[in-house]
Amino acid sequence: MFKAVLIEKDEQGYRAALKQVDESVLPEGDVTVKVSHSTLNYKDGLAISGKSPVVRQFPMIPGIDLVGEVTECTSGKFNVGDKVLLNGFGVGEVHCGGLGEVARLKSEWLIPLPAGFTPAQAMAIGTAGYTAMLCVMALEKQGVKPEDGTVLVTGANGGVGSFAIALLAKLGYTVAASTGRVNEADYLKKLGASEIIDRATLSEKGRPLGKEIWAGAVDTVGSQTLANVCSQIKYGGAVAACGLAGGFDLPATVMPFILRGVTLAGVDSVMRSLEDRQQAWTRLAELVDASVLDSIAVTIPLEDAIETANGLLEGKVRGRVVVEI
Ligand code: NDP
Repeated sequence: MFKAVLIEKDEQGYRAALKQVDESVLPEGDVTVKVSHSTLNYKDGLAISGKSPVVRQFPMIPGIDLVGEVTECTSGKFNVGDKVLLNGFGVGEVHCGGLGEVARLKSEWLIPLPAGFTPAQAMAIGTAGYTAMLCVMALEKQGVKPEDGTVLVTGANGGVGSFAIALLAKLGYTVAASTGRVNEADYLKKLGASEIIDRATLSEKGRPLGKEIWAGAVDTVGSQTLANVCSQIKYGGAVAACGLAGGFDLPATVMPFILRGVTLAGVDSVMRSLEDRQQAWTRLAELVDASVLDSIAVTIPLEDAIETANGLLEGKVRGRVVVEI
């Protein structure tokens, strides 16, 4: 038996509770991990609350990120005692995840805990920080350079947004932060934002082609916000789109793409190749200072995970949440 958050769905409805669960709930896998830390991402909030059909197998232990120590591995890829990291691959959605003391996984999903990070620091970054890095890499691939102008980050106080600001600033970009919590301006400026924008200015229907303002953007919000952001990108610029915190629709026109050569680069972290993951984590180790992690992340015990996950969806959580298992 071990302690875990368990999501169940049956005739009594959809519910999440902290429970002692039997190892038999764990799926098949060639590696067993004693989990030390996990996190709460937006997707974990959706899974725990049941607000979106993220979980597709029941009972389910949520948690799309985890760090822990290998206790058994039959594939030969890892030794007992190795510290490993997992982000995504459907874990916490269709395969039991990190919000429990034990996880059974496929060894091809794991990478060694990146050198330079403690387990708690790797989880302070988690899928949010790793996705922010992938977004920055997508802008770099499209040729967006610091000297081209300001880069906009939407959903700035969220996990992805906070890391996108810190990473872009560290790389020398001038960063504008769009947020519904302008009272958090000091936090956003400390991360590296030089301009704060009220997100309400981007959430109403705008013109197909707006004023050319941004050299690039990292968008975590989607919907009308993403449409407006695309319409404000300078000639030849790019938007890395990874999120749907404001909605999954995209009420846009083709005008920015066909008249200004704007690129809309989609970013997925879940099924990303191991090579891209290693590259992103290597860059994160180079770029993220411990002091940034201290200002972005708070740590909670597993006992508080369900309540905090619900608060995250209500926009009450700033930055990142590390869960100590
Ligand atoms: P968080 O909950 O930490 O942050 C989301 C932020 O979005 C909030 O803090 C808020 O920022 C803003 N926001 C929330 N609701 C709205 C709204 N209705 N309209 C406009 N802005 C809103 O989530 P994460 O940072 O973990 O994830 C952000 C998004 O990215 C999510 O949609 C998530 O699903 C997606 N994601 C996608 C990944 C991928 O692989 N493609 C990987 C990771 C995340 P503020 O208060 O500053 O306005």
